[in-house]
Amino acid sequence: EKRNSGEPEFLQAVNEVAEYIIPFIGENPKFEKYKVFERMAEPERVLIFRVPWVDDAGEIQINRGYRVQMNSAIGPYKGGLRFHPSVNLSVLKFLAFEQTFKNSLTGLPMGGAKGGSDFDPKGKSDAEVMRFCQSFMTELYRHIGPDLDVPAGDIGVGKREIGYLFGQYKRLKNEFTGVLTGKGFEWGGSRIRPEATGYGLIYFVQEIFKDEGKTLEGKVIAISGSGNVAQFAAEKSIQCGAKVVTMSDSNGYIYDPEGIDFEKLAFITNLKEIRRGRISEYINAYPSANYVADAKPWAVPCDIALPCATQNELNETDAQQLINNGCRFVAEGANMPCTREAVAIFNKQKITYVPGKAANAGGVAVSGLEMTQNSLRYAWVKDKVDDRLKMIIRGIHATCVKYGKEADGHINYEKGANIGGFVKVAEAMIDQGVV
Ligand code: NDP
Repeated sequence: EKRNSGEPEFLQAVNEVAEYIIPFIGENPKFEKYKVFERMAEPERVLIFRVPWVDDAGEIQINRGYRVQMNSAIGPYKGGLRFHPSVNLSVLKFLAFEQTFKNSLTGLPMGGAKGGSDFDPKGKSDAEVMRFCQSFMTELYRHIGPDLDVPAGDIGVGKREIGYLFGQYKRLKNEFTGVLTGKGFEWGGSRIRPEATGYGLIYFVQEIFKDEGKTLEGKVIAISGSGNVAQFAAEKSIQCGAKVVTMSDSNGYIYDPEGIDFEKLAFITNLKEIRRGRISEYINAYPSANYVADAKPWAVPCDIALPCATQNELNETDAQQLINNGCRFVAEGANMPCTREAVAIFNKQKITYVPGKAANAGGVAVSGLEMTQNSLRYAWVKDKVDDRLKMIIRGIHATCVKYGKEADGHINYEKGANIGGFVKVAEAMIDQGVV
């Protein structure tokens, strides 16, 4: 803890995993002998660099860029880039640590990494975003490569940013390789990659319901966020006959008790992706909905809550309020959106809770499939990628059940995901010696 003081998010993520891994190591002493968990909590490499760029007014701006290469035991480093003012080393180390477990759970050969910058794309022109991305890649390109480290998108990094980053990489390296995932379909991207995290989240919830002989038909779902993950989680939910009643952004949330249908969702997608507007504008188009400023959508009655915005957006008060209002399932579309205290409440009251490293792994899984297609120099059709995604999610669910089933039959998905993700990486690290 001393070495990482001042990094609260990273410590939170490691402590959460340690809660399950330390007792597991106690029963499996070889992992202790080789100090595998201690090594996993130390990044293999951290890069921090200056990102200077010129804004539209001709002023020089300076941001800080990062890449945390956490673990390469089972494959090249893999993890997204986040552009958001809240980005710092602690946030990226937590995300890279989580990513190592998540990537392991997918069963694909991918190590763990994360990167990004404190740059805020909000309110910037396309030209400014492009100049920033070009400057960012001018340093990053030396440290990544299709067999070394393959970044993707995350908060603030979508298709536009991936395009500018890829263009600059190609220019600097003078080669066309699959060094980034989340690319456009016309230039090496995979079908279903934009949808993968949100769809995968719903596929996971369906797996849980299937075990109980239920479907999502008629279920009321509260979603936070209105970005990539939230939009496609909403789309798949609606396709499954569920009723999505909330979405949000960093300024507040909308509550539409009649349900957000495909038409309303198309409005939100256009609002966020094309017009880059605020979720509050929803009520101008659909006045029967409510907008609540400066609040999270956890006060509404629902069966299922899907936090899909950012870390620590659901605390213990929210958790209790959700339960009081009838919510019995919480699955994380975002990374670590529930605080430790919130998770403790879910566990105590036997609410089904699925951590992000299992529930949102669909995104990186399809990124892995994008790497495969790039290596084959071939593009699979949509149904083929979607089928693989479903298969991978079924596999992750089965791993969670294998390691997380408790004596009373309750499945502790957090325990299952942490141990299931750990074992494969730990075995590989032991095989590869003290490195
Ligand atoms: P986007 O940038 O597309 O959307 C993020 C959404 O969350 C926006 O609605 C944004 O609102 C909101 N948000 C961001 N920061 C905050 C904050 N501090 N407080 C409240 N709301 C906030 O990102 P993604 O949808 O890609 O990512 C969302 C989450 O899912 C992240 O935790 C990410 O790490 C995780 N994830 C994403 C994957 C992917 O494939 N994209 C894969 C696995 C996990 P606003 O518009 O106001 O900024």
